[in-house]
Amino acid sequence: MANTGVAIRGQRSLLKQIREALAGGGPAQARLDMVVRIIARSMVAEVCSLYMRRSAGEMELFATEGLDPGAVHLTRMKRGEGLIGEIMRLGRPLNLADAPEHPAFSYRPETGEDPFHAFLGVPLLRGGRAIGVLVVQNRTERVYTEDEVEDLQIVAMVLAEMMAGGELISLGELAGVEIAPRKPERMKGSKFGDGLAYGVAVLHEPPVTPSQLLAEDVVAEEERLKTAVTALQAQIDTMLEGQHGLVDASYEVLETYRMFAHDRGWNRSLEDAVHNGLTAEAAVERVRSEHRARLGQARDPYLRERLHDLEDLNDRLLRHLSGDGHVARELPDNAILIARNLGPADLLEYDRKKLRGLLLEEGSAASHAAIVARALDIPCVGRISNLRDRVSEGDMVIVDAETGEAYLRPRPDVVKAIQARIDVRRQRREEFAKLRDTPAFTRDGAKITLLMNAGLDVDLDILAETGAEGIGLFRTEFQFMVAEEMPRFNAQAALYERVMDAAGDRPVTFRTLDLGGDKVLPYLEAEREENPALGWRAIRMGLDRPALLRLQLRALLAAARGRPLRVMFPLVASVDEFRAARALVDTEVAWALRRGRAAPARLDVGAMIEAPSLIWHLDALLPMTDFVSVGTNDLMQYMFAADRGNPRVSDRYDFLSPPALRALQQIQLACAETGTPVSVCGEMAGRPLEAFTLVALGFERLSMPPAGIGPVKQMVLSCDREAARRGVSALLKGSAGSVRNEIETLARKIYLAV
Ligand code: PEP
Ligand code: MG
Repeated sequence: MANTGVAIRGQRSLLKQIREALAGGGPAQARLDMVVRIIARSMVAEVCSLYMRRSAGEMELFATEGLDPGAVHLTRMKRGEGLIGEIMRLGRPLNLADAPEHPAFSYRPETGEDPFHAFLGVPLLRGGRAIGVLVVQNRTERVYTEDEVEDLQIVAMVLAEMMAGGELISLGELAGVEIAPRKPERMKGSKFGDGLAYGVAVLHEPPVTPSQLLAEDVVAEEERLKTAVTALQAQIDTMLEGQHGLVDASYEVLETYRMFAHDRGWNRSLEDAVHNGLTAEAAVERVRSEHRARLGQARDPYLRERLHDLEDLNDRLLRHLSGDGHVARELPDNAILIARNLGPADLLEYDRKKLRGLLLEEGSAASHAAIVARALDIPCVGRISNLRDRVSEGDMVIVDAETGEAYLRPRPDVVKAIQARIDVRRQRREEFAKLRDTPAFTRDGAKITLLMNAGLDVDLDILAETGAEGIGLFRTEFQFMVAEEMPRFNAQAALYERVMDAAGDRPVTFRTLDLGGDKVLPYLEAEREENPALGWRAIRMGLDRPALLRLQLRALLAAARGRPLRVMFPLVASVDEFRAARALVDTEVAWALRRGRAAPARLDVGAMIEAPSLIWHLDALLPMTDFVSVGTNDLMQYMFAADRGNPRVSDRYDFLSPPALRALQQIQLACAETGTPVSVCGEMAGRPLEAFTLVALGFERLSMPPAGIGPVKQMVLSCDREAARRGVSALLKGSAGSVRNEIETLARKIYLAV
């Protein structure tokens, strides 16, 4: 039930009294004693006690009104012991008419609590962590009302935030109390973007600060909440009707969202919290903390998933409350961003010069955030469970994207070791930089062309730094992925023109939109698919929606302004698709010519080889193309039937294995026979050992993430291609599932720098 007006006034005046009492200053213990006294009086309780969690997990009585004051700082409960331990474990209130009857009750004679029967305890929650417990007790057997439970929870939230903000007692006086984790921790995740970084944690979604907790005007705040909830419900209903076709969330997830968004329990918890004097943001935070504490420990994966849905919903609601206005945040010089997950545009909102690293609780290496992080050359580790509960704003953290780990509050020796590794990397970078203008010839004189993969404006600055000879893969869909709405003709043409201008004489291969699969757009309607990676994506979408593809081709032709143009199509799976796509290019060229526009000085149209089917139809395909590029990320995903975005299966098969290498060899041979220029543009081209293998197989054009150019060039310069060819071809026939070790041995034998 919603609280009565009297309760609201009581509640607000209680919080006000606490604030006033604290404003008076004085020793910490006296302030705490005063707080529990005020709560006891206001709630007509004979006892009010505050327990705080020590670092070892023990709960210590910190202040009491009504129990024996001699027990303060003496009474300690072991982790999980007694009713206090039970509340910590469950992360939710315990409301008992007769506490001693409860099986978990643990009798402590020193407290003198014998005569008290009625018991209400609520956790002090911060994020998903219980940091303490607030208890009221009465002599008579009674169950506290819902309103009283709610009141005490709100007081507990305010106390938790005040404690954490050092407002209640100074943080120094709380030494030994675990307000936030303080010990060093090492957390395992997955590598999303290479590199190392050491810096200060910045939370992407910072918690509500104590100063934002209490609303000035409850009625106005209720109205704000109502408006935001209504907008949220409408948004989700619309998404479900498919009007905005949010394709990254499956239909079931959306339905769950809708269920939660309209859930009376959720809504009422929020309303009650605001009714009791919290701001709408603080109410969201309060209800969220409770859900996290409760569901976070659920073993059932289904329930844990629901927690994610609720988190999303809370984030959405907060966005509605903030009017969607993201305010650019001032970052420390060495910021490590901490987030559950990031949308494609989120990362770009931060100052790149100050952003050193990124840690994510969720995501996948193929997710937008990871792609953008790699493009920006920001070390990134993802899939670190419970990350946000273990790290606080301002903590020092290490991102070790070489091993896929994060170190929170690392010890000085760990920092020293990481600093040393960071220095080595810097030195290596400097060495690579020196090679920038050295052409990449193998020792036996084969020229290997090293190109860069790109997709964002930010990549253009990097092009000159890397010494890449051009852009072998420009992923045009990135512009679409980071935009709030569909980029129109002018925006597309402007980007392509900037890219060509920046590249100058160096060739740029533009890949037409590769959307669908793992690349989804919030504003582009798409139907739910069972297997998106095998579904309506890339060129399939382009051919079914020729208007979109033609607009893009038109923008490319306009941007070229008579300069040479290279265009390629993603995920071509049959020669008919290529034929149809190429015909669209011809149509657009004819259209431009009819309008008196300049045709490109030279037009090369190519296909990506990503669908295994093409390997057995190269004889038909190659004569139709001006060039091909092997997209090993997708080719291997389809060959091994292993989702590239799913860490459980994506590392299961090795690209350095006979089936993969034979397929690549077959492509290389067919291209050599027909004289078709071929490049490899999957991520493997940017890893020295893999690139070495590609060179051994005869590939001479490699396109890779910018960070790969230096190491790969160093490898090329030290490589004897003929020796490599002999060594690798002997391994193609092996019966092993992987020949990585053998290739490593071979590389060492020929003194290769890999
Ligand atoms: C690939 O599939 O290898 C590729 C280069 O394209 P993308 O990673 O963009 O799918
Ligand atoms: Mg691909």
